[in-house]
Amino acid sequence: MLIVCLDLEGVLVPEIWINVAERTGIPELRRTTRDEPDYDKLMRARLGILEQHGLGIAEIQEVIRGLEPLEGAAGFLDQLRESFQVIILSDTFYPFAGPLMRKLGFPTLFCHDLEIDAQGRIRNYRLRMPDQKREAVRVLRQIRFPVIAVGDSYNDTSMLAEADAGILFRAPAKVIEEFPAFPVTESYPELLEAIEGHARKLPGPEETER
Ligand SMILES: [Mg+2]
Repeated sequence: MLIVCLDLEGVLVPEIWINVAERTGIPELRRTTRDEPDYDKLMRARLGILEQHGLGIAEIQEVIRGLEPLEGAAGFLDQLRESFQVIILSDTFYPFAGPLMRKLGFPTLFCHDLEIDAQGRIRNYRLRMPDQKREAVRVLRQIRFPVIAVGDSYNDTSMLAEADAGILFRAPAKVIEEFPAFPVTESYPELLEAIEGHARKLPGPEETER
């Protein structure tokens, strides 16, 4: 049995922070790791901005509830789960992803968490561990699951490299250029075909034994 590990934002759902920025009308929330490479600084700034504007978890979830998965994502995921085990590996946070998981039929999601106080204010964020996407793929392979990983951005490239096969989906030109080893897909039918193609090439359990 093969496991397909999918990134979430940009692969199945839109970018959450960018949409929160747009819908709350707070442009400072659009900053990403491209503007501030220090992730901790970026997250502290984001949490500070939410606090300043009096936005707690309830308000943010309300905004996120208004988002829809990318067109065709739910159908793609259903189809994929008929043939493979699927795990979503994301750098988002459980309280943010929740409303979107409902719309995707509650797939398995490994991501990070937030510390929320009794008043619903987001106090802190908690990364489970550094480079968790890659670590998850590494450990799945260690317990002898072949893994195909799919992602769209820089924070996916280490898991794509760690997997038996890595596939880019709707990646920006810069990422495609820097990582020419990964095949590039643009649509869900194309992605499904690429996954099935790789799956056929991977050795079965009897061949990996011993
Ligand atoms: Mg992404």
